[in-house]
Amino acid sequence: MKYKAIIGLEMHCEISRTNSKVFSSASNSFNDCPNGNVRPLDMGFPGTLPVVNKEAVRKSIMMSLMLGCKVPEYLYFERKNYYYPDLPKGYQITQETKPAPIGIYGSLKYDCDGEYKEAFINNIHLEEDSASMDHMPGFSTIDYNRAGVPLLELVTEPCFHDSTEAMAFLETVRSIYRYADISEADSKKGQIRCDVNVSIMDADLEEVPENFGTKVEIKNVNSFGAVREAINYEIERQIKLKESGEYDSMSQQTRRWDEDTMTTVYMRSKVDAIDYKYFIDPNIPKIKLSSSWIDEIKASIPVLAHERKAKYMDEYGLSNYDATILVKEKNVSDYYEDTIKCGADPKSASNWISSVILGYLNKELLSIDDIYVTPSMLKDLIDMVQDGTISSKQGKEVLFKCLDENKDPKSVVEESGMKQIGSADEILKIVTEVLDENGDNIEKYKAGRTNVVDYLVGQVMKKTRGQANPGITRNMMIEEIEKR
Ligand code: ADP
Ligand code: MG
Repeated sequence: MKYKAIIGLEMHCEISRTNSKVFSSASNSFNDCPNGNVRPLDMGFPGTLPVVNKEAVRKSIMMSLMLGCKVPEYLYFERKNYYYPDLPKGYQITQETKPAPIGIYGSLKYDCDGEYKEAFINNIHLEEDSASMDHMPGFSTIDYNRAGVPLLELVTEPCFHDSTEAMAFLETVRSIYRYADISEADSKKGQIRCDVNVSIMDADLEEVPENFGTKVEIKNVNSFGAVREAINYEIERQIKLKESGEYDSMSQQTRRWDEDTMTTVYMRSKVDAIDYKYFIDPNIPKIKLSSSWIDEIKASIPVLAHERKAKYMDEYGLSNYDATILVKEKNVSDYYEDTIKCGADPKSASNWISSVILGYLNKELLSIDDIYVTPSMLKDLIDMVQDGTISSKQGKEVLFKCLDENKDPKSVVEESGMKQIGSADEILKIVTEVLDENGDNIEKYKAGRTNVVDYLVGQVMKKTRGQANPGITRNMMIEEIEKR
């Protein structure tokens, strides 16, 4: 039998750059020492009351709008009740689908290997993150700094069919988070975490929920690479169960992704499902989301990656390939745009960034924010190549030297004496000098030994330490001899 996989994603992403956590006055930052950024509310102490952070709500509404979701008229929060050490209050403040999360029923077009596909969003909701724990042999440590950090959970419909689609979707969403400055969306900082739901079905049947197989939810998939591995592994595992006849007795279950063994490991079955006893948090009044505020947020949505890409192709004449490379990371695209703002030619700027700078960053595992060479320095370099001050081969050497040694291109060119002498006036001065000193060679030339030109050009090169433009020098030399 042929099988088809059905995949739904739950993507958690922490909101960055709000002045405080979502319900407490502790700061929303990463650099503090463990447990150095905790207020009584984050610990669930009696008598504390949550205060909703407006910036977190604003960013959530913006994300909801960018995903084409419907924003509710009123903002509600609910309590999801369970106990675990990372949740000192004994409940998480979140938004269930009743009465209404910050976004419901949207869709998003995403580029999957050059083909546009559409993903369907069930909902996106705002909640608080839990504390983070580290498990050692025999004991665990806990850091409450993360407790209460604003977290958006995006739940898709089961609309993906393989890991390629799922990855392309996640990358698109991450890019939106970054371009709109909602989140740094950095999985290395633990800001993005995914749960992946996978089932398989008979490929010949119509793709409707009645024909879907039993879904398995995989928790703890904390990098995009792991999402790909976990999906591929789980599809294989389920197909094997199907082929060996064990699939039908499989209950709906929760598994977790294990990085060490690169397998999914059984955690619990649906029959042990926890009843979270959701109810509206009585400590947070419902908040009216005025339509004028929502309109204001809508109007402030910035230009996103796909729009920048279209501009690079239409206005700057870049190829699809080059434009795609430049918009992949927002900071690279910002750098590119700043270089153009400084006055650089868009096509040259694209070439220098893609061929030299990005290669260098890749090799050195650096980000474009880390380099000393600013957009305006890159513009200077491009100008020096374009006006013939240095050759493009020299330009590459200069740029690498600047990147390696934290220098600016203009001074590297000055110091190394690389500067090609291209101006006719300067070259004429030296040609005249050489001819004045070589009267005998002029006579030889006039007597038919035209190859003395090579010697005379060589003399100019010697005087300029190889910096005179050889083509111009040669022509000028012949012209000047003929005049004498
Ligand atoms: P639950 O009731 O277990 O929370 P939901 O229907 O709310 O399940 O869906 C949770 C996630 O599981 C969503 O991302 C959804 O797309 C996905 N999902 C639902 N059914 C399937 C299925 N048959 N196969 C794969 N994913 C599924
Ligand atoms: Mg949740």
